Amino acid sequence: MVGSLNGSSMDLIQNAEPLPEEIDPKAMPLDLNGESDGGRGGGGKSRQIVLGRNVHTSCFEISEPEDDDEVTGEREAYMAGVLARYRKSLLERTKHHLGYPYNLDFDYGALGQLQHFSINNLGDPFIESNYGVHSRQFEVGVLDWFARLWELERNEYWGYITNCGTEGNLHGILVGREVFPDGILYASKESHYSVFKAARMYRMDCVKVGTLMSGEIDCADFGSKLLLNKEKPAIINVNIGTTVKGAVDDLDMVIETLEKNGFKDRFYIHCDGALFGLMMPFVKRAPKVSFKKPIGSVSVSGHKFVGCPMPCGVQITRLKHINTLSSNVEYLASRDATIMGSRNGHAPLFLWNRCNAQ
Ligand SMILES: *Cc1c(COP(=O)(O)O)cnc(C)c1O
Repeated sequence: MVGSLNGSSMDLIQNAEPLPEEIDPKAMPLDLNGESDGGRGGGGKSRQIVLGRNVHTSCFEISEPEDDDEVTGEREAYMAGVLARYRKSLLERTKHHLGYPYNLDFDYGALGQLQHFSINNLGDPFIESNYGVHSRQFEVGVLDWFARLWELERNEYWGYITNCGTEGNLHGILVGREVFPDGILYASKESHYSVFKAARMYRMDCVKVGTLMSGEIDCADFGSKLLLNKEKPAIINVNIGTTVKGAVDDLDMVIETLEKNGFKDRFYIHCDGALFGLMMPFVKRAPKVSFKKPIGSVSVSGHKFVGCPMPCGVQITRLKHINTLSSNVEYLASRDATIMGSRNGHAPLFLWNRCNAQ
């Protein structure tokens, strides 16, 4: 169903294939001592991060237009040329990706006619907003599909299409924090950095848990860390596919560890399925992600295995938790339960298209 998997997950993450020559970043100048020279020299240097300084590799400058038709004509020709070369480099680079976008034109053809519209799904997908140019009807269709996949009743779930996997994690962990304001966040050390970013943003106490060789969370270590903080509820990030090793945490064992250590009804589980969340239900013997288990939220990414052409993701949680989280924002006539305000209205169309095509 989802994007063709003719490479390992590692290829996707680490971009193992060499990039085409035309835009090999190694050949681009990395002038760390001042302004870039715009495309020459400095090749072969390894990438360095210098804090406090922006590295300018080659960029396409913007210059002020002039009141001269001839110049305008030249400008248009220049712009068209730059974009055509960019398109060519995208085609080249895409070949070295996972293979999916080659089907893009074909698969998403019918969506081309919608690209001219500024579609914005501002705010909560389940509440009409004042902004009319939206794609909520598609968004909710996609959300229904995911809720069904993860076994949560239509009238018991809430969710939205996010701008990326990180936003899903920020949301899931925030919901957990609202449900348990004094909860401690637990996450295996192989968790995506967005989980630790959430901890910093929300100023939560965060405990890193060790992992097994496979990259899965080590439940023995988890249990002993829980015992050090018995008095505080637990908010846990469970990985359904870690970024580097693709490891899937044993959800059932995580739940068992919590209950065994006296945390029954005092925990919130967010499942980070950015990488594999959508594949797991179709893989036999994989730990099942289901809201029939005591989990609070699940997020997946739309641009990794699903193959959407823009970053996006899906976040599903229990409706009852959202009532804790949201406060009214009057001018939108909407409940304020999303992390972002304006949201990409094209992403739901692509996801809808993709899920329908399976
Ligand atoms: C990629 C990834 C994320 C973050 O997703 P973005 O869409 O890049 O924000 C989170 N968790 C895991 C496991 C990931 O692989």
